[in-house]
Amino acid sequence: MSSSTKTPLEPVIGLEIHTQLLTKSKVFSRSANVFGASPNTLTDPTVVGMPGSLPVLNQRVVDLAVRLGLAMQCHIRPISYFARKHYFYPDSPKGYQITQHNEPICEHGTLSFFFNKIRQDLPITRIHIEEDTGKNSHQGNNTSLIDLNRAGVALCEVVSAPMLHSAAEAAAALRALRQLVRYLNVSDGNMDQGSMRCDANISLRPQGDTSITAPRVELKNINSFKFVEQAIDYEIQRQTKAYHEGVPIVEETRLWDHNKGRSLPLRKKDNAWDYRFFHDPDLPPLHISEETINKTNSDLIEHPTDRCQRFVDIFSLSFSDAFLIVEEKSRADFFDQTVTAFALLPEQNETTAKSAAQQIANWFLSELLGVLYGQHIINAYDSKVSPTHLALLVLLITKRTITRAAGKEVLIDMIKTGNDAQTIVNERKLECVTDQSNLEAIIDELLKKHPDQMLAYQKGKEGLLGFFVGKIMQNTRGTADPKIVRELVKHALSRKI
Ligand code: MN
Repeated sequence: MSSSTKTPLEPVIGLEIHTQLLTKSKVFSRSANVFGASPNTLTDPTVVGMPGSLPVLNQRVVDLAVRLGLAMQCHIRPISYFARKHYFYPDSPKGYQITQHNEPICEHGTLSFFFNKIRQDLPITRIHIEEDTGKNSHQGNNTSLIDLNRAGVALCEVVSAPMLHSAAEAAAALRALRQLVRYLNVSDGNMDQGSMRCDANISLRPQGDTSITAPRVELKNINSFKFVEQAIDYEIQRQTKAYHEGVPIVEETRLWDHNKGRSLPLRKKDNAWDYRFFHDPDLPPLHISEETINKTNSDLIEHPTDRCQRFVDIFSLSFSDAFLIVEEKSRADFFDQTVTAFALLPEQNETTAKSAAQQIANWFLSELLGVLYGQHIINAYDSKVSPTHLALLVLLITKRTITRAAGKEVLIDMIKTGNDAQTIVNERKLECVTDQSNLEAIIDELLKKHPDQMLAYQKGKEGLLGFFVGKIMQNTRGTADPKIVRELVKHALSRKI
């Protein structure tokens, strides 16, 4: 055993994430940006690199990049430049990629996310605009086909500082970025369609020793959260083993083979490409005005991480419920609107709405979304239930106008008909049975029908209490308050001894 066996090692991970922007056309030409079209139908002279064709920057790309940058608290450069990055690859017909080199549009930002319920602020080095490449599809038999539909699609590449320390933390950061771009309407974040692809740089160092620049291994183009986590974990184990065995780590780019559950070397870093970067002479410097920055800033939505924190701090939601609600913007909007609607109901106000927030969350997540998902409706706004209707339902339950059991029935009806809870309660006479003498009569009759169970209970089989309560709830179609029923049944049983 070498002494290095005892050194605790710390993984150091940085991410580079390519995100396709939600634009109708490509970044430098007018071809459409659509996923899944027939191969090579979305091309034009600029995309295929015809001599004499000229790139024209899509203004929408700039707007989205500024929006993303500001949402991540980046500094937006007043002037940034486009550069040519030269390399030959069949899916890039010009022989170079238009990207941004030393002067990217956004720098020095932050990606906020929760990891193990704790808020992390990952420093973001830069965000730059660039064009996507086409796609090779290898057919076997030494044949490859090229589809240039993706070539020229607008990308923002988000580069993080190497300050992540586990595969799970890296995956959490990536999820947060996907959530953010979807909130901002900057990208659809569909990893399975390649709208988001992640590269991860991984090295190991003795715990806390920031002086060491260890050899880095780059994992390229990982396209699912699961694979990101698996690939990084594999790489950490591979490097740890090599470190302890005294085998030097080779600086290289590796590809994750998810079928084999291992990474394979793609190319060594030591013959690093000379990309011969220079400013693209066909594109003028990109100017971003103070006015654009102020306007974009004033239109920014609440950051999902802040929103989650607000749900915990102001609405006293459990962290897991808050986290689940803010996962999708429409879900968080629906919840927020329901709480607001609750405050506007008769005799209610902001304070009562805040105290009902956890109840609202329960009914929203477990009941409403539970039923809707069963009907393949993902977005509550696509259902017949409005936030106001959900608020009213929760109010009727918290006021004990109806029982929880009746509430579930009412909700099913609301989803079916779009009627409000009060209307349904009135129509179907689901209001809570509070009339004690009426309940006592029902209980008496029930006990008469089940003398054996009654006797067994009295001989000590106390579990049968549930049997009687259940029967009463059935008889009253769930309109009786189960607490009261329990007490009354207990009392009736003891009376009959
Ligand atoms: Mn790139």
